[in-house]
Amino acid sequence: MRLVTLGTGTVALSPTRVCAGYLVHAGEIALLLDCGSGVVHRLVERGLDWAHITHVAFTHFHTDHISDFATLMQAWRYGLLPPRSASLTILGPAGTSDLLERMAVLHGAWLREPGFAITVVELAPGATHQLGDGVELGCLKVPHTAESVAYSVRRGGRRLVYSGDMGYDPMFGEWARGADLLLCECSLPEEMAIELHLTPARCGALAAAALPGHLVLTHFYTPVERTDIRGAVAAHYAGPVTLADDGSTFEIEEG
Ligand SMILES: [Zn+2]
Ligand SMILES: [Zn+2]
Repeated sequence: MRLVTLGTGTVALSPTRVCAGYLVHAGEIALLLDCGSGVVHRLVERGLDWAHITHVAFTHFHTDHISDFATLMQAWRYGLLPPRSASLTILGPAGTSDLLERMAVLHGAWLREPGFAITVVELAPGATHQLGDGVELGCLKVPHTAESVAYSVRRGGRRLVYSGDMGYDPMFGEWARGADLLLCECSLPEEMAIELHLTPARCGALAAAALPGHLVLTHFYTPVERTDIRGAVAAHYAGPVTLADDGSTFEIEEG
């Protein structure tokens, strides 16, 4: 499995961090987790094969996680010669189909009928779905918006867990236990802590429960970057920690 952190920021606009988006290659599957503003251009900037993404999965419907999706769809329809013909699977929590319908009202009916087959899969919390080639996507409800979920991607005995956006929930630490890579949002410094996002110390506490092979932090609002993120995490969790950048690549060797 390979993870590329395309967008490690959010709407605290940064010249170096675009909004949320992560590309996971697992076997034949190319899975884009979230697709916020700036992600499509990071795909081409890093020379990634955006034309052959097989699956897109949304964690929730905040703008910083969905706003480049219509652009990506338009690129597949009008920006390729020949246009995309391969089918696409779009996954997300309940409400994903309705989200796409509403996007089509805004952008045009082509978004739902772009010239290639679209399958929409709404995952109930706790559900798993086989993406093909031995890749299993699982999800867990997390506290952020009504629909928000975290994802787990498994293949070949390896597991990547992505928090999406979330507030602190010990259940997540248990669910993520033993992940080879835990990609965790790290939005806000302690002094700006709110219930709907994590701070470095809370990331550390979750990692202490999950004991991942590698903790990768992302979704930084600019104030948190002015704090000692590593120190706050290390007070709880002693394992390997990386602060992801846009375009960082992580290899997870499959067993
Ligand atoms: Zn959000
Ligand atoms: Zn977000």
